[in-house]
Amino acid sequence: MKYKHLANERKEYIDILAEKLRQDYCSNLKVDFQSLAKDNNINLLKTGKIIGGLAVRCNGKDYAFIGAYSKPYTEEYLTAHEIGHRILKHSYDITENIKENEADYFAERIIGKGINNMQLYFEMFCEVLRHPIKSSKYSTRLMEREVEALIDELEAKTQG
Ligand SMILES: [Zn+2]
Repeated sequence: MKYKHLANERKEYIDILAEKLRQDYCSNLKVDFQSLAKDNNINLLKTGKIIGGLAVRCNGKDYAFIGAYSKPYTEEYLTAHEIGHRILKHSYDITENIKENEADYFAERIIGKGINNMQLYFEMFCEVLRHPIKSSKYSTRLMEREVEALIDELEAKTQG
């Protein structure tokens, strides 16, 4: 079973949270992640600068960065997953694996369907092939300087 390492009480907590958020932000089978992020003080930015997604807390603010994908499936999943990290208040003190499992579980619950891992990996793989240099630069955890550049980009966008 995919989420066997998640504690039952943690799953129940995420179930209730995701269900509440679905009631507030889901219509016509789509979750309005922009409004959800805004209402929860998460700065959400779709950017061509990264491959994949990234969630950070920096100077007391929450950020979720999503790679600018053409494929809606990957974008929906990554947005749900990265917002999940911030909604679940993930920091770096719990193990990486549990953190990722929790964000995946949250993403499945809020989107309302299971993640198709094959489709996801395939789309990510294609994206890496399309942008090999960017991928090697950003595939691992972003450097502090690069996170700052992304935050600057977002702030320029919200002011402009
Ligand atoms: Zn993650």
